[in-house]
Amino acid sequence: MNELKVKESDILSGVIPEYELQRQMKILLCAACVNHGVLCILLGVFSLMYPALYQLASVIFYSILAVIAHPMYFAVLYVLTVVEVCAHALLMTALVGGGCAFSLYVFLVIPVGVYISYTQYSDRTKIWLVVAGSVAVLAAFFFALYMESRRESAVVGAVCVPLLICNVCAVWIFLINMTVLFIKQVQTGYLHWETVTRSLIKEANTDPLTGLLNRRGMQVILSQRYAYWRKNRIPFSLVMGDIDNFKSVNDTYGHDFGDRTLVHISSLIASMLRSSDVACRWGGEEFLILIVGDPSNTRIIAERIRQGIEISPVCAGSTELYVTMTFGVASSESGADLDGIIRMADQNLYFGKEQGKNCVI
Ligand code: GH3
Ligand code: MG
Ligand code: MG
Repeated sequence: MNELKVKESDILSGVIPEYELQRQMKILLCAACVNHGVLCILLGVFSLMYPALYQLASVIFYSILAVIAHPMYFAVLYVLTVVEVCAHALLMTALVGGGCAFSLYVFLVIPVGVYISYTQYSDRTKIWLVVAGSVAVLAAFFFALYMESRRESAVVGAVCVPLLICNVCAVWIFLINMTVLFIKQVQTGYLHWETVTRSLIKEANTDPLTGLLNRRGMQVILSQRYAYWRKNRIPFSLVMGDIDNFKSVNDTYGHDFGDRTLVHISSLIASMLRSSDVACRWGGEEFLILIVGDPSNTRIIAERIRQGIEISPVCAGSTELYVTMTFGVASSESGADLDGIIRMADQNLYFGKEQGKNCVI
């Protein structure tokens, strides 16, 4: 039960694997370290010791977060980051003064939070946390603006300009990075679902035992082919084949040998068809073959297949068994609709069985 649950969530969430998300979280946190490290050096150079010390503390703080970062701890990491970012905006505005855009950083927690919580399927419920964080940083931003309006800038232009450039550029680079991450995720998600959809469609239309199309898949091809015939008058024929006395094969040699026979005959039929023709497993031991083109050739093709099967034994261990098949043929030129053509092929197959089997009617 548990194993099934894991598989299901893998399919649903498999857009970005957990280890990749963890790597991205670590990179973002390391980027925050580098950013605070640069600010620490800049502030140190300008002899703003307390702000520089705070930046150093931030470097240590984000280093620790980077080490423990894991999507599992997303909620804790996010709350800690929101608290630090708000404290940073308010403290730096108080210590260094306005005009250096320290409060701009607060808005970065919004895309980061949305990205990580939405990337992780199981964490989508945590979006409320991201909403709360977004409101908190907005409040911090307005409070920082208010603080700026209450006092003169504490640092002169020569110090303020490099800090302003550093802060604005850091926010700019970060936002570009987040945009690229979002675009990448959309692309990855699209490719993932396309692959899943393709494989599901293939699975839904394939017979798992023989690898041939199943009845559902063949119905799609037949409808297309019939519409094409109506429009372009390119004829087609259907050959319905049924293994003779298959029940006794099962009864005598066992169900596994019966399965082996079905696989053997499927690959024989497939190997004898042209690329334009299609074979499917229509039912238990019945096969339906679509032959495109001149219907006068269909009997010849069906006869060739019948003979090919007749002379090619099914082998399993020391058992070697010759099986035969009976075929019924019908063509689009009969004027019947698709169901009528299928019925006609089936009736001819039935006549073939009545006439002693191992023949083409
Ligand atoms: P006939 O020559 O008139 O066609 O006789 P038959 O014995 O082939 O036909 P019948 O309809 O009596 O039996 C068909 C058998 O095919 C019965 C069923 O158990 C077997 N069968 C259907 N699907 C499978 C399968 O996937 N694997 C195996 N091993 N047997 C199957
Ligand atoms: Mg049969
Ligand atoms: Mg049958």
